[in-house]
Amino acid sequence: MKKEIHPTYHSNLTAVCACGAKFLTGSTRDEIKVEICSACHPFFTGKQKLLDTAGRVDKFKARVEAAKKIQEATAKKVAAKVVKVKDTAPMTSPKADLEVPTRSVEKKTEEK
Ligand SMILES: [Zn+2]
Repeated sequence: MKKEIHPTYHSNLTAVCACGAKFLTGSTRDEIKVEICSACHPFFTGKQKLLDTAGRVDKFKARVEAAKKIQEATAKKVAAKVVKVKDTAPMTSPKADLEVPTRSVEKKTEEK
């Protein structure tokens, strides 16, 4: 082997799994941490059980809750806008509708 070009090889490296199992291996890295190993993987254990080490399920649940809150907030805003339109619309339009026909009727009677 050529000198000073190869990384140091750790021949007795202890890899640690998230389940707590440790096993010996060799690597150029100083430490190895794995999420799943043969001691806890469902294929080897026969049990349907997954460890959520990275918190991905929790992150997903948090995102779903945040999305629900945003949806509720936008629904409230839309409802408030609809109520505002309903409040303002009857105040102006019926008067205009009522006034215009009476005038036109009066004008028609005056013309004749
Ligand atoms: Zn494991």
